[in-house]
Amino acid sequence: MKQNWIGGAWVDGATVTRNINPSDLSDLVGEYAQADTEQTGRAIAAARDAFPKWAQSTPQQRFDALDAVGTEILARKAELGDLLAREEGKTLPEAIGEVGRAGQIFKFFAGEALRIPGERLASVRPGLEVELTREPIGVVGIIAPWNFPIAIPAWKIAPALAYGNCVVFKPADAVPGSAWALAEILSRSGLPAGVFNLTMGRGSSVGAALLADRRVDAISFTGSVATGRKVAQSCIERMAKFQLEMGGKNPLVVLDDADLATAVSCAVQGGFFSTGQRCTASSRIIVTEGIHDRFVAATVEAMRKLNVGDAREKGVDIGPVVDQGQLDQDIEYIGAAQKEGGTLAYGGMLLERPKKGHYLAPALFTGTTNAMRISREEVFGPVCNVIRAKDYDEALAIANDTEFGLSSGICTTSLKYASHFKRHAQAGMVMVNVPTAGVDYHVPFGGRKGSSYGPREQGRYAAEFFTTVKTAYTFPG
Ligand code: NAD
Repeated sequence: MKQNWIGGAWVDGATVTRNINPSDLSDLVGEYAQADTEQTGRAIAAARDAFPKWAQSTPQQRFDALDAVGTEILARKAELGDLLAREEGKTLPEAIGEVGRAGQIFKFFAGEALRIPGERLASVRPGLEVELTREPIGVVGIIAPWNFPIAIPAWKIAPALAYGNCVVFKPADAVPGSAWALAEILSRSGLPAGVFNLTMGRGSSVGAALLADRRVDAISFTGSVATGRKVAQSCIERMAKFQLEMGGKNPLVVLDDADLATAVSCAVQGGFFSTGQRCTASSRIIVTEGIHDRFVAATVEAMRKLNVGDAREKGVDIGPVVDQGQLDQDIEYIGAAQKEGGTLAYGGMLLERPKKGHYLAPALFTGTTNAMRISREEVFGPVCNVIRAKDYDEALAIANDTEFGLSSGICTTSLKYASHFKRHAQAGMVMVNVPTAGVDYHVPFGGRKGSSYGPREQGRYAAEFFTTVKTAYTFPG
């Protein structure tokens, strides 16, 4: 049984959870300790105790620890990728890619620890000096979702530590394996006891305890809008700093002048890869009249060739849905889209494979409107719908007519429309002739409207959340 890491020691949980492989429901990935609220409190106390010293640690100390973590993750990419694919269900190449990204993120923030910025300005008053410095915020509670079991924890934990904060990390229930493997690497990285803590367990107990505890200075959360709202309410109540990355209903606009092969590839990759379980997945495909029928025919043709199967098998394009709950949600939305008048152009049925798993054929709906539930609510599965638009202006209006604003894409060969779209898409990230999902690790990540709240994650912009600014005035005398 894999334990929690609290105050520099491995400790048993209050209970145990079983981690099941969604590609093969008879395969037990492992058993993992589940912390309760009391243990979460102990982890918070350990982080609090460790904070004063870690806040004063040298950039070199932080660099060494984070760089060692990044190096080990990269060296063990294949093995950790296999574990990730086994517990979450994304394909092996996708999983190995995600692990590689986690390693690069640790390397990036190792470097950032050496470059914590400050400024010195002339005062408006004679003889005074003004300095702006960035200081750590304290103990950070990190609450992560299941769909990127190592990359999302990495892009929260690495900057938190690089800027001198201590961490209590609560992974999602469905994916304790990758979280534990990451914690095990961190446990050997030279970080002092209590600087990093792992508390695996339920959102309603461990997560809620992190939100309620006044010793936790900040919460970095990624997950659903519903949970994000609870995080916001708890944090506001006690004036804790928080950042939220939540859902998406990301549009991909395909214009008449698009290169058809590029558009189909963007739609299929952005909509269905990683089983559509990405916050940046393009689930609404908005297509102008002149290319609509050709685009739908070519996309269905491409979907026919997709191989849905065991995430770790060679040649598989799309792995299983993560668990029964998510599968039920996908099926419910497929039914709702049909009831509301959408035409199921392809897929949407459960698939049988030699091993029992949560297999679903990617689904494409046509004849949908932007008012239907399938267009307004996040499915978080391999389910996309096509909306017909008269022209670019109407397509842009539909793309922006959503409560979300994470990623927004367009396929066009027109510089005029591409430039206009980049300026007018109401989203944190805009993609031209590339899928809406798939981002670099050294630049900011995040959205607007209902998708995100608070400062951006990743890149140099991560400093906004993980530090607080101090303005110091000196009169040298
Ligand atoms: P979720 O909201 O169910 O859970 C997220 C985390 O919150 C989990 O660790 C969970 O245990 C915890 N949690 C649940 N209830 C809690 C409570 N009452 N108090 C504290 N913590 C609690 O989300 P999920 O199903 O794990 O992830 C899917 C969602 O995440 C989707 O909506 C997806 O769009 C979103 N997501 C967003 C981004 C982004 O960067 N915008 C990235 C990945 C996933």
